[in-house]
Amino acid sequence: MNYSIPAKLYFELAAFAYLLLLGIIATFETGVKTRTTKLFRSFERFMLAALVISILTYTFAVPELGTPLWVCLILRTMDSVACVLSSQQYALYMVAGIDEKGKYTILAVIDWVVFGVYGLCMLINLVHPFILWYTAEGEYLHGSLFVPVVFTPPVYFMTSSLILLFVRFKDLDRRRGYTLLAASVITLIGTVIQAATGGALLLSLPCGAMGVMIVYYVLEAPDYRKLQESNEKLRIAEQNAIRANRAKSDFLASMSHEIRTPMNAVLGMDEMILRETEAGSVADQEKLGRIHTYGENIRDAGNVLLSIINDILDLSKIESGKMELVREKYHFAKTLQDVNTMMRIRAEQKGLRYVVETDGEMPEYFYGDELRIRQILVNILNNAVKYTEKGSVTISVTQKELEGRNITLRIAVRDTGIGIRKEDMEQIFGAFERVDKEVNHHIEGTGLGLSIVKQLIILMGGRIEVDSSFGEGSLFAVEIPQEIAGGGLMKNYEADGEQEGAGQEVQVFRTKDCRFLLVDDNRMNLLVAKHFLDELDAEIVSVTGGEEALEKMRREKYDLIFMDHMMPEMDGVQVLEISREDPENINRETPMIMMTANALNGMREEYLQTGFADYISKPIDSKQLMAVVRHHLPEEKIL
Ligand code: ADP
Repeated sequence: MNYSIPAKLYFELAAFAYLLLLGIIATFETGVKTRTTKLFRSFERFMLAALVISILTYTFAVPELGTPLWVCLILRTMDSVACVLSSQQYALYMVAGIDEKGKYTILAVIDWVVFGVYGLCMLINLVHPFILWYTAEGEYLHGSLFVPVVFTPPVYFMTSSLILLFVRFKDLDRRRGYTLLAASVITLIGTVIQAATGGALLLSLPCGAMGVMIVYYVLEAPDYRKLQESNEKLRIAEQNAIRANRAKSDFLASMSHEIRTPMNAVLGMDEMILRETEAGSVADQEKLGRIHTYGENIRDAGNVLLSIINDILDLSKIESGKMELVREKYHFAKTLQDVNTMMRIRAEQKGLRYVVETDGEMPEYFYGDELRIRQILVNILNNAVKYTEKGSVTISVTQKELEGRNITLRIAVRDTGIGIRKEDMEQIFGAFERVDKEVNHHIEGTGLGLSIVKQLIILMGGRIEVDSSFGEGSLFAVEIPQEIAGGGLMKNYEADGEQEGAGQEVQVFRTKDCRFLLVDDNRMNLLVAKHFLDELDAEIVSVTGGEEALEKMRREKYDLIFMDHMMPEMDGVQVLEISREDPENINRETPMIMMTANALNGMREEYLQTGFADYISKPIDSKQLMAVVRHHLPEEKIL
């Protein structure tokens, strides 16, 4: 016997060497093994076994060299089975790697069935040869079923996994998709070359082994798997964080709404204490004075609480993307003057100089969200006054660019206060962030103001800049695009503002022969609204539910109806809708006014669209209430 390794096996020998090396490296690897890793290992081992068997077959299954024919037949059979089995293992690995959700498990089952049928044929062939055999003379022959039986399974395994790869390609991460594609293509090339050269070049297994190498180093090496695992953990953590954040915003929104309702009662009742104690008798003067001070304290604390709640509500609206800006024509000089009047008092109370610099060339009217512009100004100026102990606060208002009807409004607020350290500059815009807490602890604040200001400015398409020297003072500059809405030039903004403001104050008035219906499920709130309206000398009928209100509307004529929104059984909007359809209702034409703690942006428009004549938010502002009543009553009923 003189066996020698044929030259055409050199590729397979090389492949055997590198696959063996890979197997050894992989054995020492630690880390978590996933389902695909296990399938990959099994595929790799079958491939190694197929290479060994192939080398043995081509070296020893040679009858001329004296190998018994039955040994040759068994070697040939094992060679074919090992090849088919390794392509089947590749298909199983592909299915598991592509189909992470286990949707295509049926494909893996079919792969096993195909292999089972093939294996059975090969077993029968050992007893009754019809696929491959050796003649008595030692000649190796293939039957006509050789190609269908031996080639169909690997072709099926390769094509089915390639089709699956193409179908799912866009859902896979790029690295996985392209690696699997490269491994399949290289194996296919090897198989095609082997078939085209009639087996002269044995490249199918070496190319398959190369595919194994690629897959190992790109997808199955432990460092990449660890990366994937931590990416997955990060993704889950990110989702949890987003969810928690959303939950927090929702919670804050609903909580602030809930708090507003009782706050209405607190502030309203307090207003009553203040009014009644002012008119106390001389004998009770001292006692009443004390009660009055208590009342004042409640009012101050209540107002602080209310502004905090409003800030939280604003922030949660911004975070949940529900903050909507309105676009309406407003008189900028009036806004500026209002804000300055308020701030000048605060600054002068602290002994600070309050300086206003304006650009006389600026237009009077803009389109924009006046309320939010006011909020931005108040916040920045408030901080300037709050964080300055001596010196001055200067506000300068200029226009920067003028293009057609669009200008950039630049508002700069300079103070000579405590200043901000360079390293704290970024932080001050974060929600709940306050810097220099040791120095500032005596100054009240929640750290929400600047965060809201910045978000509002971004929503408006503007920007905010800070320049500060620690211990010397700060400059907050805001640039907001606004559209000119006509009017003249803002030459003398103080006079302009006052002129505009005139006539807007509601004169004190009384009513004649008026009857109002108040609907609210909260008795405290009913009492508060009733007290506010009492000074109008109207008859006030209060009810605590929708049914009762509908009943009253059928029996008595009212001049105005004030309706709460959130009520058990029937809410305010339903009461309005039913009352409008009710043929017995004699108040179908009576203006119905929504009076609610639901102070979300855009609610006003929504209520008006539903059919309400007006909208008042709680806690009730008595001036606003009076203005609404005045607006909806006919002249002959006003005294
Ligand atoms: P706060 O309610 O604490 O005032 P803000 O969000 O308005 O919250 O401001 C955040 C922080 O920025 C403040 O706590 C303060 O440390 C700093 N800051 C803001 N404006 C000024 C200013 N004009 N001078 C100095 N520090 C300021």
